[in-house]
Formats: sequence, C-alpha cells, structure tokens
Amino acid sequence: MRTIIDDVPSVDPDSAAGPAWDLSSEYPSIQSSEFRNDIATVESSIASLEAMGAAAGARIDEAAGFDPAVDAVTLADLRRFAVADAAARELLSNLAVYAGCVLSTDGSDAAAAAMRGFLDGLSARLGAASASLSLALTLCPASFFEAFCSAPETARFRFALGQERKRRARALPLPAERAIATLSADGLHAWGGLYDGITGKLRCRVRGVDGSESSVGLAKAASLLKRPERDVREGAWRGINAALSVHADSFAAILNAISGWRGSEGSLRSHTEPVHYLDGALHQGRLSRATLDALTGVLRESRELGRRALRAQARLYGVDRLGPWDILAPAPADEGARASAIANIPFERGLGIVRRAYASVDPAMGAFVDSMAADGRIEGRVKDGKRPGAFCTEFPRSRRPFVYTTYQGALSELSTLAHELGHAYHCEAMRDIPLSESDYPMTLAETASTFAETVLGELLASEASTDAEIIELAWSDAQDAATFLVNIPARFEFESRFYERRPAGPVGPDELRALMKDAWAEWYGDSLSGYDEWYWASKLHFHKTGVSFYNFPYSFGYLFSLGVYARREELGDRFHGTYVAMLRDTGRMEVEELAARHLGVDLSRPDFWRASVAIVAKKVERFERLVTAKASLE
Ligand SMILES: [Zn+2]
Repeated sequence: MRTIIDDVPSVDPDSAAGPAWDLSSEYPSIQSSEFRNDIATVESSIASLEAMGAAAGARIDEAAGFDPAVDAVTLADLRRFAVADAAARELLSNLAVYAGCVLSTDGSDAAAAAMRGFLDGLSARLGAASASLSLALTLCPASFFEAFCSAPETARFRFALGQERKRRARALPLPAERAIATLSADGLHAWGGLYDGITGKLRCRVRGVDGSESSVGLAKAASLLKRPERDVREGAWRGINAALSVHADSFAAILNAISGWRGSEGSLRSHTEPVHYLDGALHQGRLSRATLDALTGVLRESRELGRRALRAQARLYGVDRLGPWDILAPAPADEGARASAIANIPFERGLGIVRRAYASVDPAMGAFVDSMAADGRIEGRVKDGKRPGAFCTEFPRSRRPFVYTTYQGALSELSTLAHELGHAYHCEAMRDIPLSESDYPMTLAETASTFAETVLGELLASEASTDAEIIELAWSDAQDAATFLVNIPARFEFESRFYERRPAGPVGPDELRALMKDAWAEWYGDSLSGYDEWYWASKLHFHKTGVSFYNFPYSFGYLFSLGVYARREELGDRFHGTYVAMLRDTGRMEVEELAARHLGVDLSRPDFWRASVAIVAKKVERFERLVTAKASLE
C-alpha cells in the first residue's frame, strides 16, 4: 500500500522475471460450478438479509430504548442478523477477491470484468440490507449492546461496533442517514469519479529520455518523475502542471465540493457535540487527537532533518538545490557503476535474499517466505495486460494471503517483494482471528510491510560491497526521511488550512495555489529551489472521497514501524513473539492501547516519536557522510 514511491522498469524484462501465481486452491475458474454455487448462496443470503433488514428497520425508532429482557426477541433476531450478515460478506468478498486477482493479471478478461461489476452490485445491495443492523446496535443502550455481545457467536463484533458506538452522538434519524447514503453516490463520490475521469484522459507534453517530445497520459508522465535524467524529470513536471492548469477550475470545484459536503454533513451531525473536520480521519485511523498532535508536533520539530536529506541529495546530483521535480528522483546514475549495482537480480536469488532477511528475525518468518513461494502464492511475471503496482490480498474463506508484483530484478522491486510479503505475514499472524477483529486501520496497515523493508535494507546494507550499492541504499533512506518528515506533513498542512478556510466560502484555484505554496514553504523551507503550487491538483489523495486527510497515516506508519524495529535489538530472542502478538491485535485495539500493551509506550506523548526520529537521524547522517566522502574523491 505504500503507493508514494513507485519504481520505473529499468532492466531487461526477460532476464529476471518472477513466477505466475496459482489461484486454483481458491476456485478452479470464474466459470466453474464452485464459483457459480457460491454466487447463488450469496444471492439467497442477501434476499433473507433484506427481510431481516426490513424487520429491524421497522423498530429502529425504538432502538434507543431497547431493553435486553423486554426486547429479547429483537435481541435474538439481531444476533442472527449479524451472523448471517458476516457470513454473506465473507463469501461475497471471497468471490470479489478472486475476480480481482484474475483481472489484475489480465485486464482484458471481459468475463472477470463483468463479474466484478456484478459483484459490486451485490455488495451495494448487501450494504443497504444491513444498514439497520449497525444503526440499531449503534443507537441501543449499553445494557442491550452488552447483552448482544455476550453470546459466543457475537462476541467477535464487540470491538468494531464499539468503535461505531463512540460516534453515536453524531447519529441522525434513519431517514436522514438513508438520504445521505443515497445522495452521496451521485453527490460526494461523484466528485471523486470526476477527478478520476479528467486525470484519466489528461494528455501531458513531455520530453522522453531520447529528447523527443510527445504527448502521454498522466500516469506515464508521472513515471518520468522517477527517471535519473534531471531534464527529463523537469520537463515531465512542467508538462504535468501545464496540463493540470487547463482544468484548474474543475479541480478546485472538486476539492470545494468534497470539503463542503463533509462540512455540511458535519454540521448536521453536530446536534449534540461539535464535529471537527479531523474527526473522520481520527476515527478511521483509530487514534486520538492527542496522539495526532504529539506526532505532528514531533514532525514539526524534525523538519530540518528532512531538509538535510534533500540538501545532501542535491550535493550528490551536483546541484545547489533540488527542484520540486526532483523529490522522487533515484540516485544519480554513475556511468558504468549502475550496471554492477544491485539491479537485475533474478527472481530466485531475490527471493532467497528476502528469505534470509526474514529468517534473520526468526526462522518462522524465513519458512513463511518458502511456503508462499512453494504454494504458488506470489505473482511476479512481466506480462502485457497486467495492472501496474503491487498488492497483497487475502481470501476471506481460506484466509490465505496472495502477493502480486511485477518483478524484473530492480532493487526497488526487491523491496516491494519484501514489503508485500510483510503484509502477507501480517495476514498469516491473524489467520485464526475472526475477520471482524482483523480489520486494521491505515495507521497500522503498513507496520509489517515497512518493518520487512527495513529488515531487508539492513541485510543489503551489511552485505553491500560496491560504492554504488551503498549509495543507492542510503539514497533510499534519505528519500524516505524527506518524504515522511517534510512532504507528507506539507500535505497535512495544506489540507488543514484548506478545511479551516473552506466554511467561509469556496476557495478558487489561485488561492489553492497560494495555500499549497505556503504549506510547502513552511515545511521545505530553503531546501528546494521552488515549490509545487499545483500539488493540490496532481495528488490524487486530496480528491479521494472515502477518506479525508489521507496523509498523516503514512508518516505515522513510517515512524511507528521504526519504533517496532528498534525493539528488535532490545528484546533479542523475545522480539518475534512480541511482534506477532502485536500484529494479532491490530484489528481489535485502538493504536494507543496496542502500543501501550505491546511496546510499553504512550503514543500521545512525544517521546516515542522522538525515539523513531533519532533512528532516521542516524540514517540521514550516514547518507551525509557518504556524500561528503564521495565529493572529496572527485
Ligand atoms: Zn503496503
């Protein structure tokens, strides 16, 4: 899920490519009778859930007064409803994961695409059928809720429902809740769809590596920002922003509508206590305002460290300062040296390196990598029609994780492989825990994956033999420091200022540019030669409608994972047990409780975050030393 830093294919595709995965343990095919039978089961389940939903909906106005003794029949009905709902969701999700996996490896598979659309429709029906279930359990008194959770078959819903109940003071009458849910499809979410629509068709004038000009899509243009040639990056950045500027009014309208919708909905829900614009993001991240404040406070005091990383990167490129088009740049390519650097690692060897890194934490982790490979649960081919990016997915019924990458042998792809296998290990650790207690928040989602990347990085650094290898690894550390200590906080700064300004009226494109410029100035300071005033238009994250402030969880995850990694040295042989115990609780605890129980730290105080920043400081200092040493040789 770490989608910030993607890589660019840089080596011969045929020489190192990864294997195909084998999904036959889940279904033979979409056309198989097994798959068809499961669809039929889901459809009949939804029909009976719709009847249960209608019955629960008829009593929803009385929910606030439900009594476990007087309303014993309703209590029993709601328990059955919850169990049936969870079973239908599990099966539907199992089908959707399979269709999604098939489609990922072959985007032209029309049957899989049609099937996914069909399953999306079932999912919407299921959501509507069960709306009254969660509302009844949110509105009911504590005594009734306790009685509901006291049964063995419903105890597993306590944490997730408890999270919803915390927000019960914001609930609206059922007709209003229904109206918001109904209108948001063509209201709130349509704005996100418009953003995808415009950016999907956008053409950008860019200059390629060979110097020739061409018109390319936004994704292709964005990939040029990660090229080693500086003029190619600058040209791509200018081409992207010129193309975006044509639609400036539309992008501004989208941001204003999304923020305005959330503000209006927040006002409606403020009948009992005021709703703050950060509340939704805090709820989704399962953290308190105090913890967010502690994190952002430490990020603010650590800005200079991120800027130092950028200045050292500039020195290595032989320029005074990096430009806004350089923040995703790879280490400068030294003629000849790159060929011998850590690139073009055949898949088998790469997997062996990841395996050794995992086994250095615990033999069980190394064995897990072996079993993922042996069971055919890693997709790594280079193939036409595969969707870009990497992910890890889990089949809800078998609870088996599968990893998807496109592997061609570059170092960044080796990191991605370790990263995705980290997600898979997280799944494996939770395999016997009910799904309703396995749904972890964005703040914790990248714990295991980033941890795995760190472990791999340490192993590679300890074994690196050439200067090019050492610099390349240290460059990636420096880039992380700049991303998570400066770039992500600048996004948060912008979004906060925008949400504070928005209630006074719509914010035009010029003012959005000024807001973004100020936010970058605040965080990047003098470490860049200029700021990206169009960042509010180019970053998809600001235009997402399902989640707001989709930025701070990245910095949270980065520093949290480093804090977990620091425990490895402290605990020695006892580390792995603690680590797995922590991963197992990520779907059934708030982040503060999780950290207190498993790490013995208080996330609402700056100390924990400062200790993680101290680890980053060591990495940046190391990079600075390498850059200085290299300069003295030249
Ligand atoms: Zn991830």
